[in-house]
Amino acid sequence: MNEPNGMTEIYGIFGDPVRHSLSPLIHNAAFKKQGINATYLPFEVKEGTLGLAFEGIRSLGIKGVNLTIPHKEAAMDFIDEVPEDVDRCVEAINTVVNRDGILYGYNTDVPGFLIALREELNFDAAGKKILVLGAGGSARSVAFGLAKTGAEIIWICNRTLERAEGLAETLNTHFPKTDLDAVGAPEELIGERIDLIVNATAAGMKVGDASPVDLNLFKHTSVYDLIYAPAETELLRQARAKGCRAANGLGMLAAQASLSFELWTGKREGVRETMLEALKTCRI
Ligand code: NDP
Repeated sequence: MNEPNGMTEIYGIFGDPVRHSLSPLIHNAAFKKQGINATYLPFEVKEGTLGLAFEGIRSLGIKGVNLTIPHKEAAMDFIDEVPEDVDRCVEAINTVVNRDGILYGYNTDVPGFLIALREELNFDAAGKKILVLGAGGSARSVAFGLAKTGAEIIWICNRTLERAEGLAETLNTHFPKTDLDAVGAPEELIGERIDLIVNATAAGMKVGDASPVDLNLFKHTSVYDLIYAPAETELLRQARAKGCRAANGLGMLAAQASLSFELWTGKREGVRETMLEALKTCRI
């Protein structure tokens, strides 16, 4: 961590769990490399206490935070403004910028996910059939990004079906050219061509977690797992064993983080490279 002094600016991440997060590592590496007197800390914020944590941003003068599981959607209730742009209807944010006491909410997961998909899997979602696992804040960003890119069909599969139905319904109103459907279990799609499966659930975060989908049920498909710790989930292990193109969430982590960093500091040049370099130095 950079040596703090009286002028050090504070940034951080609110989440639960949050101790596994690599965001402090990569943001602190970027602050150091860019010569910015700032530090980035993990804050374990329990569900239901996000309002208090946001009061903390204001009262302590924290300059910016990221949001992770389970706060991305709830955070919409506590920010002052979402800047007018095309991604406003995602209704989930992962980045807060404190500009003179006004808290602005942004979503860098959407572009971060699309960058990772293109660079790591060479995957273009236009005209494709895609299964998204999960219906939380990240699944919302993933499905939004895929629909925006022109996917033909997006199936949203979630443990709590109503949440998947709600997400499909919301996105259908914004993207009439993409068919968005909720499914109760991946088995309902046996026989379908699926070009890409994205895991945006927490299933796989704990070592020993089962895969949220049995890949043997489907023909060849690319796989993107948003989870990056552990580096290889059971889903990714199955995908590699089948010879599928597959990637974990590290590329998205660095891409979305560098976009948040730019919103906070205005610096872009070399930031993502510094973050990726920092990720190489740590054992996940
Ligand atoms: P949310 O809390 O908003 O959503 C969690 C989702 O996971 C819900 O759909 C939930 O289902 C589902 N879920 C939780 N536990 C299980 C389980 N045991 N089995 C099946 N489904 C489960 O979290 P986020 O959307 O913010 O995060 C989801 C994942 O994405 C996390 O693993 C997170 O680390 C990762 N992530 C990675 C990023 C990156 O840059 N690589 C960026 C953002 C997130 P239900 O609705 O039924 O509760």
